[in-house]
Amino acid sequence: MNFVYEFSQGSKEQTALLGGKGANLAEMTALGLPVPNGFTLTTEACIDYLAGKDSLQEELKNDIQNHIKALEKKTNKGFGSTSQPLLVSVRSGSKFSMPGMMDTILNLGLNDETVKALADKTANGRFAYDCYRRLLQMFGDVVCGIDKSRFEDQLTFYKNKRNYQEDTEMKEEDWHYLVDVYKGIYQEVLHRPFPQNPVEQLFQAVEAVFRSWNNKRAVTYRRLHQIPDDLGTAVNIQEMVFGNAGFESGTGVAFTRNPSTGEKGIFGEFLLNAQGEDVVAGIRTPQPIAGLKQSMPEVYQEFERISSSLEAHYKDMQDIEFTIEDQRLYILQTRNGKRTAKASFKICIDMVAEGILSRKEALQRITPSMVTQLLHPVFDPAELAAAVSIAKGLPASPGAASGAIYFTAESAKAATLRGEKVILVRQETSPEDIEGMVVSEGIVTSRGGMTSHAAVVARGMGVCCVAGCETLQVDEFLEQIICGEHVFKAGDILSVDGTTGQLYRGTISKREGNEQELLQEVLGWGKEINELKVFANAETPEDIKTALNLGADGIGLARTEHMFFGEERISEMRKMILAKDKRGLKEPLEKLKTYQKQDFKEIFQLMEGRPCTVRLLDPPLHEFLPRTGKEIEELAAATGRMPAQIRKRMDELEEQNPMLGHRGCRLAVSLPEIYEMQVKAIVETALAVNREQDFTTIPEIMIPLISTKEEMALLREHLDQVIQEVLNSEALEYKIGTMIETPRACLIADGIAEYADFFSFGTNDLTQLTFGFSRDDSGKFLGEYIEQDLLKADPFQHLDEEGVGQLIEMAVANIHKTSKGSKIGVCGEVGGDPQSIRFLRKLPIDYVSCSPYRIPAAILTIAQESKFE
Ligand code: PEP
Ligand code: MG
Repeated sequence: MNFVYEFSQGSKEQTALLGGKGANLAEMTALGLPVPNGFTLTTEACIDYLAGKDSLQEELKNDIQNHIKALEKKTNKGFGSTSQPLLVSVRSGSKFSMPGMMDTILNLGLNDETVKALADKTANGRFAYDCYRRLLQMFGDVVCGIDKSRFEDQLTFYKNKRNYQEDTEMKEEDWHYLVDVYKGIYQEVLHRPFPQNPVEQLFQAVEAVFRSWNNKRAVTYRRLHQIPDDLGTAVNIQEMVFGNAGFESGTGVAFTRNPSTGEKGIFGEFLLNAQGEDVVAGIRTPQPIAGLKQSMPEVYQEFERISSSLEAHYKDMQDIEFTIEDQRLYILQTRNGKRTAKASFKICIDMVAEGILSRKEALQRITPSMVTQLLHPVFDPAELAAAVSIAKGLPASPGAASGAIYFTAESAKAATLRGEKVILVRQETSPEDIEGMVVSEGIVTSRGGMTSHAAVVARGMGVCCVAGCETLQVDEFLEQIICGEHVFKAGDILSVDGTTGQLYRGTISKREGNEQELLQEVLGWGKEINELKVFANAETPEDIKTALNLGADGIGLARTEHMFFGEERISEMRKMILAKDKRGLKEPLEKLKTYQKQDFKEIFQLMEGRPCTVRLLDPPLHEFLPRTGKEIEELAAATGRMPAQIRKRMDELEEQNPMLGHRGCRLAVSLPEIYEMQVKAIVETALAVNREQDFTTIPEIMIPLISTKEEMALLREHLDQVIQEVLNSEALEYKIGTMIETPRACLIADGIAEYADFFSFGTNDLTQLTFGFSRDDSGKFLGEYIEQDLLKADPFQHLDEEGVGQLIEMAVANIHKTSKGSKIGVCGEVGGDPQSIRFLRKLPIDYVSCSPYRIPAAILTIAQESKFE
């Protein structure tokens, strides 16, 4: 098997084999861009290595050496040469970008001899020894497992001794000294010297990078982003170019558009006289890229040209790493840039307008989770105006969060386990902090720029972040922030505004995200072509307004029982349930009808004639009964009874399995008065609203939990009669339909269809009854089922296609057999789940219905699968 590819042999399609970085280096080489020469060890080589081999296979070692020879030829340098030394970088790069999670080593090939040659050749001893100490440090950390702080502490100690503020103040002899100190650390910790043989260094480095596929932070990152564990990482071995060769050199990272806002234009940062990791790790705070335009205008122009050609070639915003060595530009990496949800939308909309993408292509770029992120909260403007700002940093990742500050990943995790909301505060984050970042509501760093680790990772996770907040003195050891005269300690509450970069003292209330315009535009593309409609599960005016704003085409499920829990209403409900005889029902039902009419009026007015399905009462009556002694006494007083009588009635209503008991349509069989009241309220209100408005409400009345054709026939006939009495001679179009929530109803759906104008699958109950899993208790064991692979996922979240899905398919076919053209929808939780929607949209149904905030992701998912002209 060929485990090694020259850059000139691959292409951007080969990300699985060459990793994202390797594939893109190959692509850029083919495009003739200034990419330093090199080759890639494939992900298959990594998988092979990790499959139990303790060391590199001889065959792979030979291959690597042969490719090094070829590289020597191309570069006119020698690996280990004491006149023209070739130095290489060894970088990880898997199929999916995992920024900073795996390892990289630079300046390989340096040793006590070649460092002198590099110093002579560049006439820059300071530079050569700086490179050598960097190699000693990285190799020590990544390959030999020596704690990085051993090296860093020595550097800090030395700089303090010399009174230096910056690394750039270090002179050649200072680095000489430090190189000796670093070599001493190897002896002290490992009892062996740093390997002087470049080939040996290279082999060890390759092994370490292969192994880094399985380090803890990489494993956590993969879990978080659902990246499979068996892909392995490729390793790129590439001739070094030096951004730290002097002040005509530098290194930087730039995006072709702003990754926070999506605005077009080069957005990035660079550092003069620095190597790549200085920018990425946030060790020094870099300058905005505009500075490069001033200091090296020609290089900047070339970079601009290359970045726009890369963006056009990849048809996506690019994140480009570059190095300038003595005014010569090199491109070290390009990839599709990570961005905020807001930027994703803006870039898609702009690229459609610029003709780079079609709408169909643009829609594929947006994921359901980006939609969710777009709806991120912002602080309440009134409270914000009154809030005390304590500092301002870079607005690295949008959103708003308040929480208790903690300074380490461990304490952040511990605090979330105690139920606290956490803001993680660090000088800068590194991949080791990932577990703390995952649990935090917000992240604050005092150092680093917009492309620092904290900024990139937070943006990817959709967690708000303020980076580079330099006025804060963050003391991770004492666990405190000093900010002017204020000191904030672990557990103190701060609020973070990732959209503006401001930090505030105390808690500020939040409002939902307000990127409506971007969302509306993209959803508009979807709605134009979507055949499957998206309705809302909503009954309160607030939820209905939100749903309509987020693109709902109608209401698929208004659960009327939610309307009976207000203080006055529940008391009437209880009186009704306690009635001794039918006569006693009358008065509380009349009162409830007045309330229901108010509710329906609001709903119909908001819906302005759009489809609106109102479900009649569903839960068992005991759910409305008093729970506490005090409530029982109050009810006794209100109904003129003894508390004991109430308790007795409560006992009568008690059921062993209430979800399988006297509820839904079964309740209506024995107590038709409730549905009568509801239907009258619906029809009277629709008539009144239609008289006053210039739209027409066509109420759809839905009966829950039907299992037999006979139940449906009975209730339909009865409700039709009640409605006719209300209508008298007035005209109103209305529909009566049913939910399909029991397996039996699926089997005989064609029979039910004789009496039903429409159907809605209640997959919550249908899943419960198909599996026999209680929807209230299955959480206790489903985790175990998934862990042991007995189930792929929780079937209440993602539709069980094999079982419940098959029942739905069968029922839909049964309904269509009747050729009545009944409307069919799905209104259980899975109606808002993208994965389930992908299955459901293949069926001949008319709509899915879900809670308001899930509507945009549902519209998007359907659009992604729809046919475009
Ligand atoms: C269902 O069962 O899927 C449904 C929508 O009804 P509810 O959740 O109210 O039982
Ligand atoms: Mg149900």
